[in-house]
Amino acid sequence: MTDQEIESAIAEMFEQNYELLQAEGGHSLTQDTKRTALQQVMLYWRKMRDIAERVTETEVKLTLPEQQTPKGRKYSIHGVVDIVQEDERTVMYDIKTHDAEYVESNISDYEKQLNIYAHIWQNLRGQPLDQTAIIATAYPKEVKQALNAEDDVALEAALEQWEPLVNIPFDQQHVDDVISDFGDVVDAIEDRQFTPPSATHLGQQYKTKGRERRFATQICSNCDGRFSCSSYRAYTQSNRGSDASFNRYFREFDSTDQEEWLSANLEADLET
Ligand code: SF4
Repeated sequence: MTDQEIESAIAEMFEQNYELLQAEGGHSLTQDTKRTALQQVMLYWRKMRDIAERVTETEVKLTLPEQQTPKGRKYSIHGVVDIVQEDERTVMYDIKTHDAEYVESNISDYEKQLNIYAHIWQNLRGQPLDQTAIIATAYPKEVKQALNAEDDVALEAALEQWEPLVNIPFDQQHVDDVISDFGDVVDAIEDRQFTPPSATHLGQQYKTKGRERRFATQICSNCDGRFSCSSYRAYTQSNRGSDASFNRYFREFDSTDQEEWLSANLEADLET
């Protein structure tokens, strides 16, 4: 297949996948969001083509059964990874839609999850593993700026600099910690404890390379439930004026974005 044929096939699969998710979940994307999503898929295909072509097993389902919460409930942990096996070396990849900078800044969260999958692969399946890594598919701001400016030279340079692969070391201690964390979460769900974190927590900073971002900016701004979340509302009200970019985002949503979102969902409803 030529490069163009491969990209056409990816675009077709993207569309089929979108229609399936739309039918299953009943949610639609605005044209802009859909275009951006397809652009992200295309860019990481171009960037990660070398690894994608060497993947020997995709969507490998891993299960850690018969776990017990602190309150005695039984549960299982499930995960899905991609595997590359070549020259007697086996590498496990987990694909995340976050950007590599965020993954590196919060590496312990990712270590825990991937270490669990590595534990299942090595101990329950009895297969050796030489490396584990995250593929962070969201492109960095330099790529976004070049795309917005339609500057092909800057885009080429930004793509060259982009490193979506983040290696994750294996640590058995993480396996024990994350199993214990999962148990607490299962108990909280089963006990119907869905209270969001406090507004103060939303104001706390995440460490990133060279700058800090608030939980509200990094996490809540991507959360579909934010406009009905009491903590988010309290946070935006208490921070009005001190976080100009956040308030601008909050105001912008209720005009064009909201209309597009409503139209996209109404159209989807009519189609179904
Ligand atoms: S806006 Fe979403 S992510 Fe943020 S606290 Fe509320 S529920 Fe949690």
